[in-house]
Amino acid sequence: MLTLIPLPAFEDNYIWVLHDGQHAVAVDPGDPAPLMAFLDAHQLVLSAVLITHHHRDHTGGNGALRQRYQCAIYAPDNPRIPAVTHTLRGGDSLTLTEPALHFEVLATPGHTLDHISYVGHGFLFCGDTVFGCGCGKLFEGDPAMMAASLDAILALPDATRVCCAHEYTLSNIDFAKTIDGDNPALLERERADRASRSQNRPTLPSTLALEKATNPFLRFHEPGMTAFAAGYLERPHPGPADVFGAIRAAKDAWDG
Ligand code: ZN
Ligand code: FE
Repeated sequence: MLTLIPLPAFEDNYIWVLHDGQHAVAVDPGDPAPLMAFLDAHQLVLSAVLITHHHRDHTGGNGALRQRYQCAIYAPDNPRIPAVTHTLRGGDSLTLTEPALHFEVLATPGHTLDHISYVGHGFLFCGDTVFGCGCGKLFEGDPAMMAASLDAILALPDATRVCCAHEYTLSNIDFAKTIDGDNPALLERERADRASRSQNRPTLPSTLALEKATNPFLRFHEPGMTAFAAGYLERPHPGPADVFGAIRAAKDAWDG
């Protein structure tokens, strides 16, 4: 049986841990300390680390974890990522024996050019590509690139559990309401997620169905979002990538 745990790290990161009671994998362990404490407390051995992209808040634990557990470290091919043992690109897959896991690798560039996501066992580990009701900032890619990455994610099953690398959901909902405030699914999500956070529970994983219903950054094919973008861009009939780009620009301006 597989258990999935979001371990809080830094201010608002989650290190996702999947384990079978004896062996564990960790996604984006930017800080080794909370992960080592968890593994010690549950007497788990770390078999592998899965990295989504080169940012330090996702890769900072690699050296210490490799040293302590001799674990495999899977990552996109980027020399800025330390201690990598296996490089991956979109279309690759990876199989582990302990715990028994199989993941498909999805290329999801946009936040960074090297960004990949891991899909398997009903889970999507999407790093800084999708957040609860939001998406990553476009530090290296452009809107068309990110929209294509999000289309690949939209093609996954609705029941997919979306495991994001940051707890940004409530502020993302605040922004989503400014452009999609009549969406009843969004208002229901706000109620549920505010209740979770008030009890210090994660809002994640969400499901792809919930993100499709509430996350404006996954709704760039919807007529309501197209209408918003037409107004924002002051031109009629923007295409999907431009709709996505308008929503991203509006969020960047709202963030200030
Ligand atoms: Zn990042
Ligand atoms: Fe991050």
